[in-house]
Amino acid sequence: MSKYIFITGGVVSSVGKGISVASIGKILKSRGISVSVQKLDPYLNVDPGTMSPFQHGEVFVTQDGAETDLDLGHYERFIGVELTQASNVTSGQVYSSVIAQERRGDFLGGTIQVVPHVTNEIKRRIRKVAEISQAEVIIIEVGGTVGDIEGQPFLEAIRQMRKDEGRDNVLYIHVTFLPHIAATDELKTKPTQHSVNELRRIGIQPDVILCRSDKEISEGIKDKISLFCDVDKEAVIPLVTSETIYEVPLLLEDAGLGEFIVRRLGLTAGKSNLDEWRDMVARLKAPKEPVIIGLVGKYVGLRDAYYSVREALCHAALAHNRAVKIEWLDSEQLDGAADDKLRQVQGIIVPGGFGYRGIEGMIKAAKFAREREVPYFGLCLGMQIMVIEFGRWVFHSEKVNSTEFDANSDYPVIDLLPEQRGIEQKGGTMRLGTYPCHLVPGTIAARAYGTEVVYERHRHRYEFNNNFRQPLEEAGLVPSGLSPDGRLVEIAELRDRPWMLACQFHPEFKSRPDSPHPLFLGFIGAAKETLVEGAQTSLPLN
Ligand code: GLN
Repeated sequence: MSKYIFITGGVVSSVGKGISVASIGKILKSRGISVSVQKLDPYLNVDPGTMSPFQHGEVFVTQDGAETDLDLGHYERFIGVELTQASNVTSGQVYSSVIAQERRGDFLGGTIQVVPHVTNEIKRRIRKVAEISQAEVIIIEVGGTVGDIEGQPFLEAIRQMRKDEGRDNVLYIHVTFLPHIAATDELKTKPTQHSVNELRRIGIQPDVILCRSDKEISEGIKDKISLFCDVDKEAVIPLVTSETIYEVPLLLEDAGLGEFIVRRLGLTAGKSNLDEWRDMVARLKAPKEPVIIGLVGKYVGLRDAYYSVREALCHAALAHNRAVKIEWLDSEQLDGAADDKLRQVQGIIVPGGFGYRGIEGMIKAAKFAREREVPYFGLCLGMQIMVIEFGRWVFHSEKVNSTEFDANSDYPVIDLLPEQRGIEQKGGTMRLGTYPCHLVPGTIAARAYGTEVVYERHRHRYEFNNNFRQPLEEAGLVPSGLSPDGRLVEIAELRDRPWMLACQFHPEFKSRPDSPHPLFLGFIGAAKETLVEGAQTSLPLN
C-alpha cells in the first residue's frame, strides 16, 4: 500500500514548491524508497497545452504524450523517473469527467456536488498514480497557494485522504515564504502563521513547514514558527535560496527532512546515499570557463518558457566542465543589429514555438549560423527554421516557408503531417509523446548518440515535406534520423558544417543533470571549440 505526502503552498507563489517536491522525491529515493509524483493544478484548462508560454511557462511533454505543467520536468530530472499523464491533474479534467459521468447517468437521481462528487474524482485520480506506479510513496503537489478559490476542492480532497488512508500513511508539508524587512534586518513569520491558519480552517494541520527565505533562518525564528504553527521544531525546515536548484535536495537532507519523513510515515528505508549528487553539485558550483549560447526565441522575456532547454544546456555544459552562459535573444528584435549580437555567441539554439511572430528573426539566426559555421541546434520549430532557411538559399527564394506561416507558399518545405489534415480542435491533437527514430550511420546524429535507434518526445503538427527532400539533399541537407518507415525526417543536419543539426522532437525533456542528453553534449562540445568574434569565412556547400 502506498503512503502519501501532500505539499501545499502559502504566502506567495514562485517560492520553489515544485523544486521542493522534486527534492523530497530525491531524498527518499536516495534511501531506496520507490516514489512517484503528481501535480494537481486548480485551473480550468484541461491541460496547459493550449496556454501561451507567457501565461504558463513551458509545457512539459511526458513519454506517453501528455502536455503537462513544467513542474513535472523538475520531478523527472531530480528523481530520475518517467511520469505519465496520470501525474498531472487539472480542475478542467476533473470537472469534465464528473460532468461526463452525470450525462451518462452514473449518478441518476442524485444532485452532483463538489463534495463528494468532485472530491471523490480527485481522490480517484490521486490513487490512480499509486496503482500505476506501485510506488511506496506518492508525493502530490497542490498548485497555487492556500486560500485560492479554485484550490478549495483539492484541499478538501487531500484533507479527506488522511481519514481514508489512515493517519500514519499521510503527511502534509506546507511551503511558505519568510519576507525580509531591510529596515530592521528581520525575517517575518506572520504571513506563515496566517497561511497555516488558513490551512487549519480547511482542516489540515501541517506536519512539516518548509520556510523559503533569502536569508539565514535563526533558531529563534524556528522556535516561533514551531510554537505558533504547532509543528515540531525539527519539522520546521529552512530552505534558504541556494546558488543552484540542484542543491535543494542536499539542503533538505542535511536539515533532517529525510529522516523525519521516514520516521513519521514508518517507512522501511536504507541509509541515504547522495554522494554522486553531492559531487555533481560541487562541480556545478565550482568556477568554470563559460560557453556562450545564444537562445533565439520569441518568449525569452519569460525564461520559464524554455525551462528544460536551459537545464539541458546546463547539464551538457557541466559534462564538458564548462558553465553555460545563455544570451537570451528575442527573435522579434533580431533586426539590423542581429549580426552584432550573434557574433558574440559560440552556439545558436532555436527552441520550439508556434505561430508566425518572430519567425524571420529565427531564420536570420539560422542563416548566420550556416554562413559563419557557428554551431546551430534546432529543436522542433528550430528544425523547421533550419530547413526553411536552407531552402531559401537553395531555391533562391524568400517564398520558401512552412505552411504554418504561409499557407500559399511556392516552396512549402514544411507542411502539415498527413494525420493532422482536417483537425480543427486545438487541444491535445498534435503529434505527441515518444516515437522511435532510426539514425543514419556516419552522420553527426549517429555519432552523438552512438546507437542505432532512439526514442524521443514530440509535440508538433508540421513536418519536413518529402516533396523537397531530393533537391535539398542534393544541396547538402542530410536527413540523419528517420521514422522506422523512413517517411518522416526526424533529424536533419547540414553536410560540411561542424555542427548544424536540428530535430523534430524535443530532446530537452530527456536530459538529466546526472545524464546529459547526447545531442546537447554534442552541441556544447562543438560550441566550446568556436571562437566568438571569430567571423569564420563562409564555405560554399556542395
Ligand atoms: N509550430 C510547429 C509545429 O506545430 C513547431 C512546434 C514546436 O516547436 N513544438 O509543427
